[in-house]
Amino acid sequence: MTTKKIITVQNLVKKYGDFTAVNNISFDVYEGEIFGLLGPNGAGKSTTLEIMETLREKTSGQVMVDGFNLDEDPGNIKKIIGVQLQSSGFYPNLNLVELIELFSGLYNRKTNATQLLEKVNLVDKAKNKSKELSGGQKQRFSIATTLINTPRIIFLDEPTTGLDPQARRNLWDLIKQIRENGTTVILTTHYMDEAEQLCDRIAIMDKGEIIKMASPDKMIDELLATGFEKPKPAKAANLEDVFIHLTGREMRDE
Ligand code: ADP
Ligand code: MG
Repeated sequence: MTTKKIITVQNLVKKYGDFTAVNNISFDVYEGEIFGLLGPNGAGKSTTLEIMETLREKTSGQVMVDGFNLDEDPGNIKKIIGVQLQSSGFYPNLNLVELIELFSGLYNRKTNATQLLEKVNLVDKAKNKSKELSGGQKQRFSIATTLINTPRIIFLDEPTTGLDPQARRNLWDLIKQIRENGTTVILTTHYMDEAEQLCDRIAIMDKGEIIKMASPDKMIDELLATGFEKPKPAKAANLEDVFIHLTGREMRDE
């Protein structure tokens, strides 16, 4: 992670009629970091993401993405970002290679489908239809589709929701790899262990506002500094540890 700001959001507001979904938020994302947007349902995370992705109109505020102003240059922003499509949007009867070719065409790119599928460990499924993939495989494929235009930044909205523990861990590795390759990652999640594992910094949103922004480590230290004490766990392992110990880390849906 560098100290170069790749995204700058200033005083962003989004209203749906009388309702203010995003209420004057400001934040920066640094090049090469994994930045997490956390918050309860309805906090305004997806709205914020979709505005940065040029998919939703803002009401007011300034957004700069890699030097491009959202108001003046949305076309250039689209070229350098990767947006995760909902897997429900995949044509169920096309196979993975066909889907990659379809999306590449939309980006006006030539893509080596096998190489891309290798990155997400789906080469074996190259000729399978998207409807034949398991939940974890669908998520990995949808992350692969964000990489088609070799983006500088990718946006992942709840990438691991609904996955089993093995598939979640597998996706964490994939997201870390993508970042190692120099891509900035912005994600939302409801899993705090995931945010702690993956994110360099997080912003916690509630009712359209950012109520806290720092590294996970700093947030935890600050809470502890207030005198907060967690009841000591009776045992040094939890049920997820048992589950992973019994069933292994290996993905099951191959
Ligand atoms: P999150 O992703 O944090 O769950 P969203 O950004 O999806 O939150 O939604 C924030 C708020 O804005 C919610 O109260 C939601 O109901 C509302 N909202 C989202 N999209 C629309 C829309 N198209 N029209 C009206 N209200 C919306
Ligand atoms: Mg959402």
